[in-house]
Amino acid sequence: MPRLRVYGGADEIGGNKVLIESGDSRVFLDFGMSFSAKRRFFGTFIQPPSFALVNDYLLTGVIPSIRGIYKRELLRYGEASKLVADEPTVDAVMISHAHLDHVGHTSLLRNDIPIFMGEGTKIILEAREESRTSLTIENKIIKHHNNIKTFRTNSKIKIGDYIITPIHVDHSVPAAYGFYIDINGYTLAYTGDLRMHGPKGDMTQEFIEYCTSKSVDTLIIEGTRIDEKEIHSEHRIHEEMKKLISSASDKLVVLMMGLLDFDRIRSVLSASNLNDRTLVVPLRQAYLLDKLKREDPALETPEFKPGELAIYHERRGAGEYSDTDYKGWMKNFLNYLTDKGYPLVRDYEINENPSKFVFVINMLEDVLELARIKPPAGSPFVLSTSEPHNEEQMLEMEKLMNWINLFNMRYNHLHASGHASASELIQIIENIQPRRIIPIHTEKPMLFREYLKNTEAETRITIPKTGEEILL
Ligand SMILES: [Zn+2]
Ligand SMILES: [Zn+2]
Repeated sequence: MPRLRVYGGADEIGGNKVLIESGDSRVFLDFGMSFSAKRRFFGTFIQPPSFALVNDYLLTGVIPSIRGIYKRELLRYGEASKLVADEPTVDAVMISHAHLDHVGHTSLLRNDIPIFMGEGTKIILEAREESRTSLTIENKIIKHHNNIKTFRTNSKIKIGDYIITPIHVDHSVPAAYGFYIDINGYTLAYTGDLRMHGPKGDMTQEFIEYCTSKSVDTLIIEGTRIDEKEIHSEHRIHEEMKKLISSASDKLVVLMMGLLDFDRIRSVLSASNLNDRTLVVPLRQAYLLDKLKREDPALETPEFKPGELAIYHERRGAGEYSDTDYKGWMKNFLNYLTDKGYPLVRDYEINENPSKFVFVINMLEDVLELARIKPPAGSPFVLSTSEPHNEEQMLEMEKLMNWINLFNMRYNHLHASGHASASELIQIIENIQPRRIIPIHTEKPMLFREYLKNTEAETRITIPKTGEEILL
């Protein structure tokens, strides 16, 4: 019988690392970065040195102590050196989606362990890495791994005794998947992160229907919002953004959103255009949009068009928009945008005509652009982020609020989550009717028991503990 161990994602939101073992075959479902574990010991000013990266992460429980999975060059120092092995001890890693709490620590894995991910996920990760000025060992997922294999929905992936079928699901990043796994007749389903209330809820429905039609012995289900009943749909965000923008008359609208949340871009783009405003996105987000548009047309990424969707031409170097002010990817990308004739917008243009624009920022450091643009007093600032998926995104709310107050802006929070609500999660369980339920990606797994109290399903819940074996 197969066995399972949750090495990340038990009693925490994200950091998913689920090892499935059967006979000689071992497969990881996701190998995410555990932000909660990292935060306990590390931060901006406390970073492990490269030579002791794995050692220090093992010591603090950020990554699991498993022989034969980490890159040999990271295992030279201290305790880490005990984990060296000639052959890899894991056959494959299946990545559900591009959020770092699911894929982040694959950067530490050996090159002879194949990493499977959706085609869109690979493009997103590539774009992220190509549009960074400096990359640490930890940031290099695609660049330092030459064994990445891609799949699409309904692909059949055979690894030892396993037949793995990825099925697309709706989440706050494109190319998110759940997995259906058949191991010699024993069946497992893994939700990854998903929601039903999003614009592509029918994809999640497909995953549920696939599982329902096949029967599922064990369901590993995310539970991020098991403590929340409310469902805020992306449609509602669109409606509220429309209202907010139309009432902002002669003001600038500034919106902070996740870099990869393309559904949010679509909602805000439409709300902006209906109000005769141009949506202006940062260079890095534009890079991602452009790459996805070219390399994965199926995702229907919006196009840059004057008056509709433009790119923010930020000041760099001497701050004079001269060629020599830009370096690396930014220089090349700006040249490409100019060649293509795509619309670029500068700070003084927004300053002169604030009511013609909705200005997007992705990261806290982008808030500095407000010092260039100088939004008129009373301009709305809309915080519209999903849960923090990476360190840069972790809001330092106090500083952000200080900037907002400095310009006398009006603070609003408008957000629809990428995760299913409690009632949606229970509905998924009731539809799939698994023999065993393993809640992960939640700080409150016990709530699954509460919700399923006095039903037969209650007895089928197994709450995982980090690293403990569960016999399936
Ligand atoms: Zn997640
Ligand atoms: Zn996610």
